[in-house]
Amino acid sequence: MSKGKIVYNRAKDIPLNAMSVDTMLFNKTGAWRNVRPVIDYENCICCMICWKFCPDISIYIEDDKPVIDYDYCKGCGICVEECPKKCISIEEEGR
Ligand code: SF4
Ligand code: SF4
Repeated sequence: MSKGKIVYNRAKDIPLNAMSVDTMLFNKTGAWRNVRPVIDYENCICCMICWKFCPDISIYIEDDKPVIDYDYCKGCGICVEECPKKCISIEEEGR
């Protein structure tokens, strides 16, 4: 068994996982957020790793690009950490 870091190149390389979307759809958690992730599309390679790792299913795919749904994003920063291109920045919410 390999002990190296697992490298995902494309969304199809990532295994499916089980998650419950039922309660998430009715509970708009975006109001919990005090920072917001912002994708730099100039540097995004559309690998969809952010989409896969978002624990709140707050990233969807539109025209083959990841889009953050701020109604649900809690600003946890996992997508920022996992993006291999480091093209998601985190910004203070302007509230
Ligand atoms: S924002 Fe980063 S993790 Fe998400 S699709 Fe683009 S390159 Fe991949
Ligand atoms: S900050 Fe967290 S909740 Fe928001 S899109 Fe990224 S991973 Fe999902």
